[in-house]
Amino acid sequence: MQIYNTLTKKIEPFVPHEEGKVKIYTCGPTVYHYAHIGNLRSYLFEDILVKTLIFLGYDVTRVMNITDVGHMTSDGDTGEDKMYKGAKREGKTVQEIAEFYTNAFLKDLEKLHVKMPDILEKASDHIDIYIKMIEKMLKDGYAYQKEGNIYFDISKATNYYQLSGKKQEELLIAVRDSVSLDTFKKNPFDFGLWFTTSKFENQIMKWDSPWGVGYPGWHIECSGLACHYLGEYLDIHCGGVDNIFPHHTNEIAQSEAYLGHPWCKYWMHGGHLNDKSGKMSKSKGEILTLSLLEEKGYPPLVYRYFCLNSHYRNSLTFSYESLKGAKSAYDKLKRRIQLLSPIGEIQKDKFQDYIEAFKEALSNDLNTASALTILYDVLKDKMITDATKYDLIKKFDTVLSLGLFEDEEIDNKMNTAYIEKMIEKRRLAKENKNYEEADAIRNQLLKEGIRLIDNRDGVTYEQIKE
Ligand code: AMP
Ligand code: ZN
Repeated sequence: MQIYNTLTKKIEPFVPHEEGKVKIYTCGPTVYHYAHIGNLRSYLFEDILVKTLIFLGYDVTRVMNITDVGHMTSDGDTGEDKMYKGAKREGKTVQEIAEFYTNAFLKDLEKLHVKMPDILEKASDHIDIYIKMIEKMLKDGYAYQKEGNIYFDISKATNYYQLSGKKQEELLIAVRDSVSLDTFKKNPFDFGLWFTTSKFENQIMKWDSPWGVGYPGWHIECSGLACHYLGEYLDIHCGGVDNIFPHHTNEIAQSEAYLGHPWCKYWMHGGHLNDKSGKMSKSKGEILTLSLLEEKGYPPLVYRYFCLNSHYRNSLTFSYESLKGAKSAYDKLKRRIQLLSPIGEIQKDKFQDYIEAFKEALSNDLNTASALTILYDVLKDKMITDATKYDLIKKFDTVLSLGLFEDEEIDNKMNTAYIEKMIEKRRLAKENKNYEEADAIRNQLLKEGIRLIDNRDGVTYEQIKE
């Protein structure tokens, strides 16, 4: 597998720390609002990554956090805590907001066929871990205390600017809004590990610590959960490109300070989904959510298909016109697949060739568009049997997860054509005295909930009631 590594700015062969095992950390949502479809694009890319690695035979463990404290409206130390802002907006408690939007997020993932992370944990449930890490960083001279807050001293970091690939001056201009020019700090990019003062007035979730009652910074949460659940060596860390600075940059600085050695080898970042006006936002106008797309007649898996058609690293502009195009292609694809009969010979060599081609596409830095082309090539191939196509596409769909074989429509109109085709195949099998195949077709349909009834005048069928 070859992946583009933001750390080295190169496509590199993927070699996990421990052979055959992959440890992945993916930044989770800040649960102060619904996820917009831009956020969801990042989770879709991560899902393809996880499923590709599993398809290639790796044993994958993925951890994700739920940010329910400490993420400011800027991505640095300034502004309000997003959770507090959400609670104020809706007249609810922070806990109620967190619970409501966590559930909404999980529902979105389910609808998009995203595999649940193996470990999904709330940031606020692991305060003791952050405290332990901060204590060590203070002891080792990586952090300092100023006016009741604890800051990380970036001058002590090994290569603070490597991930972003930018110099301090460039970053200062690029992220003016995200970084506070806090007078407590030695360097403007030093960042908060623990706060007891600055934004304390508004902070509802707070805990006791050796430095007084307060709350953790956003960045330490991800380092804390990653090190706690995945150990000292992380293989892959993912997020959207906006996470590169300051969030992931700070995660590297503090994790390596805490561990005393390099931490994560591969950093993967998904390009943004933008709307026509530019950046997708939760604060201006109508939020583009998955439910909104559904209301407008676009099922979640159509959005998944839309995303898989472009490379995860490219930015992508959303429009209803392009989603409409994706919907019609997706519907057509499913109709073609539903006409395939699963019965018959499987051509093992052809099967293996296509599996290899599919693996190769995804191993090339997750080229999902190429993987989809291979799926279409399979459908078009006149030299392979329906059964081979059927099995291949079933396999592909373990990664693509486009629900190509599950359909509400399978119970009604689309299914009619499929059943009739199967009845005709069975008739031909009988005519050729191939009773084994005829029985196999009958049994296959039975498994799918359809009972064939042989009459004097031909064959009819009924649906088996549950
Ligand atoms: P948040 O809930 O803001 O912490 O973000 C959750 C995930 O969505 C992070 O991995 C972000 O990098 C990612 N993200 C934010 N905006 C976009 C966007 N417009 N397109 C794609 N990913 C995004
Ligand atoms: Zn994170």
